[in-house]
Amino acid sequence: MSDVVVVEHLTKLYELGDDHVVGIENVSMRIEAGEFIAVMGASGSGKSTFMHLIGMLDEPTSGSYFFEGIDAIRLTGDERADIRSRRLGFVFQSYNLLPRTSALENVELPMIYAGVPEQQRERIALEKMALIGIAHLRDHNSNQMSGGQQQRVAIARAMVNNPGLILADEPTGALDTKASKDVMELFTTLNNEHGITILLVTHEADVAAFAKRIITFRDGAIISDVRRGEVAA
Ligand code: ADP
Ligand code: MG
Repeated sequence: MSDVVVVEHLTKLYELGDDHVVGIENVSMRIEAGEFIAVMGASGSGKSTFMHLIGMLDEPTSGSYFFEGIDAIRLTGDERADIRSRRLGFVFQSYNLLPRTSALENVELPMIYAGVPEQQRERIALEKMALIGIAHLRDHNSNQMSGGQQQRVAIARAMVNNPGLILADEPTGALDTKASKDVMELFTTLNNEHGITILLVTHEADVAAFAKRIITFRDGAIISDVRRGEVAA
């Protein structure tokens, strides 16, 4: 299996005047293609810091990070933005769809940033929407869709450039139990049947239970890393 993410001794300190707060400290781990990982931990344990570093939305204080074999630390801001738009897919708790914009146009958006020719954009967007079972929502605006439907549109948007990794920060945090289960079943199908690599943050054990591997943070460090079927140490 090929490595999508390799981090060694990754540390992020937030400077506060003369002092600092530990975001994460000395984190080493790898993610292989095809994995489905849930990141858990109490509030303030470093989950979002870790996600932001992996998503190249923030820069570490020290340590190394290779994404698909590329040394992310050495990239310029523009190069990072380019990888972010072409190789990473993001899903947020609040969906982050553009208002007064159709589902289809929302899904097409990352392809505009990635420079995909206009003629291809609609076809690819509809292909992903059909895969997820939301092609019928193509002309719906956000205010015409349920939370679960909006999150499916956001997931189609995250998949449209065939990213090497999908990062989802509390993707079910705003959904009721039924919609939450539906979204997690969708992630499971995308992972099992389409080989999509997923890293998902949640503080809910029943959401994490869908993943094949659960990593738990405490005080900025990984305190457990368990694959399904393994017994926790
Ligand atoms: P989680 O997502 O698990 O709740 P975070 O990664 O947001 O945890 O936070 C980890 C630690 O870093 C916490 O102590 C938090 O207060 C601190 N922290 C996070 N972001 C910032 C920031 N922008 N400035 C200062 N401290 C921060
Ligand atoms: Mg957080």
